[in-house]
Amino acid sequence: MQKTLVIIKPSAIQRALVGKVISRFEKKGLQIVGFKMVYLDDKMLEIHYAHLKEKPFFKRIKESMQVTPVLVIALKGLDAIEVVRKMAGSTNSRKAEPGTIRGDYSMSIQENIVHTSDSVENSTIELARFFKEEEMFEYDPLILPHLYANDEY
Ligand code: ADP
Repeated sequence: MQKTLVIIKPSAIQRALVGKVISRFEKKGLQIVGFKMVYLDDKMLEIHYAHLKEKPFFKRIKESMQVTPVLVIALKGLDAIEVVRKMAGSTNSRKAEPGTIRGDYSMSIQENIVHTSDSVENSTIELARFFKEEEMFEYDPLILPHLYANDEY
């Protein structure tokens, strides 16, 4: 099974959408295997958003991610990276499909509620960035036989 990183951004925390967003992942059948609140300092954001460092709006993104602490969540499931990314929707929330988190809860490119890992490689790097080994948990969800056929996992 795959693990992926979700960050509940300050836009969701300020708008009191945390429960709604997490509830979607739970209802889908993704297992929470890591969860904590952290403040993202400049250094962390420069690493996490290194691919955007040269963009004119980078300073604005950084400030937006520092309005409140964020919630970092590790989710586990079959094909979790793609599933979670699809649940988030397109970066530009105005273009995100209705039914996705961004499509349902946001109108913004920047204030777009969640971050989700975009590939196997990045999910591994991002999970290690935010979670120590002992902060990630292994446990068997009792509902596993009802989430998947036994030849799927
Ligand atoms: P995603 O979060 O969908 O993987 P990116 O990695 O391209 O998208 O961008 C990271 C974050 O930077 C976005 O989620 C969004 O908050 C912000 N961002 C990206 N592009 C823009 C933009 N053109 N203007 C403002 N903020 C942006």
